[in-house]
Amino acid sequence: MPVNNKNENQHPPLPILPGSTVGILGGGQLGRMMILDGRKMGYKFVTLDPAEDCPAGQVSDIQIVSEYSSIQAAEQLARRSQVITYEFENVDAKMTQFLQERSYVPQGSELLHTTQHRLREKVAIEKAGVQVAPYFPVGTEQELHDGVDKLGLPCVLKTCTGGYDGKGQWLLKTTQDVAAAWSEIQTSGAVQPAVDSSDSTANDSPTEPGFILEKFVPFERELSVIVARNPSGEIKTFPTAENIHKNHILHLSIVPARVSKEVSERARSLAESIAASLELAGVMGVEMFLMENGELFVNELAPRPHNSGHYTLDACVTSQFEQHIRGICNLPLGSTELLSPVVMVNILGQDVAPVLAQLHTFPDTVKLHLYDKSEARVNRKMGHINVMAKDTDEALHQIAQFGIWDV
Ligand code: AMP
Repeated sequence: MPVNNKNENQHPPLPILPGSTVGILGGGQLGRMMILDGRKMGYKFVTLDPAEDCPAGQVSDIQIVSEYSSIQAAEQLARRSQVITYEFENVDAKMTQFLQERSYVPQGSELLHTTQHRLREKVAIEKAGVQVAPYFPVGTEQELHDGVDKLGLPCVLKTCTGGYDGKGQWLLKTTQDVAAAWSEIQTSGAVQPAVDSSDSTANDSPTEPGFILEKFVPFERELSVIVARNPSGEIKTFPTAENIHKNHILHLSIVPARVSKEVSERARSLAESIAASLELAGVMGVEMFLMENGELFVNELAPRPHNSGHYTLDACVTSQFEQHIRGICNLPLGSTELLSPVVMVNILGQDVAPVLAQLHTFPDTVKLHLYDKSEARVNRKMGHINVMAKDTDEALHQIAQFGIWDV
């Protein structure tokens, strides 16, 4: 039996061996890929998600179809699982607490609490000795003006909770933009500076600000590192990825990143410091900005497998999904060695038909992953391809030749 002990400094938990059942909160593509890789190792999976036809539910041993807030469903998940993980970060904190009392949740609720809130996240990154872009907490209009005075324009105003894919963000270039953003916030009512403390992603205190103002940093490249840690304290990072976004959605991950070895190694070392400081279990995506002078600012943490780590499925000895399972089960971590240069391209709803039409023309080193989502809506993540080639220029050239995406 696994030891369900959170105080890993005293007693690192025993490994949770293959044959055990892993419970996953959430049924999206990240859960699906965790299951597909974990099953190869002999683990069983139970998923909890409201949608019957969800990507992870389709491939799980047992599927619990329910709202996340259902206590009965959570009890069922806890009863059936030797270890529980999540595949998205906006999990209700109360639910994690409930599950922790009944099963083993090695990632804990603390990591979620930190990463669900941009300000708490930045403080945690700085505590790990890692730099973030200069910022200023904002709860009132006066604080917004104070922040602009301190940081100078341009700035980016972001909601502390709930923003994704560029939503809940305002780029402020002029004083008119500052006034317009605040007025939009006030009138839309969509984003409240003071957050209701009964909300799952809420601030701890009503005085905790609802926004963060960041200095706009004219970065040269966006990088990310997938870092893994197990409760015994072993840490490994995957090779640094260079990411290109389109309409705030990840479009390409290029590996190795087109940066110096020194920058790439520094990025990995920053990610390791954060993983150690947060006592991570499983994998985490660490997104960074590389400045022209070589400085790295960490922008965001994702306490789970990350889209920019999908290249590991075909181009590394161990995938990020297998590594996540190893991490939460306290197995030794697998090798993160890169076997081939690779470019990952996301397949969005509008790309599915052209990809299928072109499939027969793809070189045999292109690997297709589709998540079996029924509705191919515009900008919905439907799958990805990993293009392996002798170098990343060649992979990018091949992608350009497909004529599906602007590269
Ligand atoms: P985020 O939601 O924080 O990941 O931001 C989404 C995207 O906005 C990032 O991937 C960047 O391209 C851009 N961005 C966010 N914050 C900044 C910043 N402080 N300076 C420049 N660009 C930013």
